[in-house]
Amino acid sequence: MPEGHTVHRLARAFGELFTGETLAVSSPQGRFAAGAAVLDGHVLVASEAWGKQLFLGFADPTLLGQGTAGRPDDVRWLRVHLGLYGAWTFTGDGSTAVVHAIGAPRRRIGERETVPAGPGAPEPDDAWSPPPPRGAVRVRLVGTHAVADLTGPTACEVVTGEEKRAVEDRLGPDPIRDAAPGEGDPREEFVAAVRRSRSAVGLLLMNQDVVAGVGNIYRAESLFRARLDPMRPGRDVPAEDLRALWDDLVVLLRDGTRTGAIVTTRPEDRDGAAPTADVLDALPGRRRVRQNTDDAPDAVPADEAFYVYHRDGLPCRVCGTPVLLKELAGRNLYWCGVCQA
Ligand SMILES: [Zn+2]
Repeated sequence: MPEGHTVHRLARAFGELFTGETLAVSSPQGRFAAGAAVLDGHVLVASEAWGKQLFLGFADPTLLGQGTAGRPDDVRWLRVHLGLYGAWTFTGDGSTAVVHAIGAPRRRIGERETVPAGPGAPEPDDAWSPPPPRGAVRVRLVGTHAVADLTGPTACEVVTGEEKRAVEDRLGPDPIRDAAPGEGDPREEFVAAVRRSRSAVGLLLMNQDVVAGVGNIYRAESLFRARLDPMRPGRDVPAEDLRALWDDLVVLLRDGTRTGAIVTTRPEDRDGAAPTADVLDALPGRRRVRQNTDDAPDAVPADEAFYVYHRDGLPCRVCGTPVLLKELAGRNLYWCGVCQA
């Protein structure tokens, strides 16, 4: 499932690609036909993320003409949660602005970002027209230079500003967002939410009401970096440790937003030696974690990017004992039983 940094990157891509444009909105698959009809022909005026929730704000162009756009109550929001299987696929005309926004003429952003192999950016073409939708496209947004197709989301609906605020009020603080004026201190909200629960801190980090945007990778990696036992009850974790954990999440998630890849290892903890094929074959159920920077020559290789995530059975980078794995609330939890005792 995409973690918060991916959703913030999506929000930025939508902002760069479509802000101020009148968009053709449709539902090629048909399941979102009524919602698409509400938004069709409206102008994109905002693109925001809160944790794993994406909000695209649309204004009626006739209201824009009267100068009343921007009034929050006039904006209709497309709320999307990708869930486990959702993805956005962007295709553009190859113009510089499009390539800057999505990093390629075509890119798929979901569980992981992909840039299809093939010829480089085509020359911008005055006669560009969007390619036909592939697969079951729930929503298609078409602008002047690019098209965005949404497939397989967990949530996709049109909401009012009030309904959007109700969703946000239920969410915990997001380490990537800057707190708006009048909002509380997100770090103290996080600390208080963890400390009023007797649930394991490893469960609380995955609870979007406690902290928004952390998924399975950031959960495992931030707990390792903090040397915190994932099974420790939240109320027993000292507030100082939780403040440090929050500060680390801010650094890690914002770094992921900037680069598009999750890298949590410190340079001195990378061994430069990827596990051999025999070692990997002997470990059941592992699969390689791919990141969208895998082909970049100066990127940290995926095998070196994590301390514990998907490293069960491999030696801990710090103490050398095998990394542990167990299922917790239906998701795999990875940790070091020595470093995080
Ligand atoms: Zn260890």
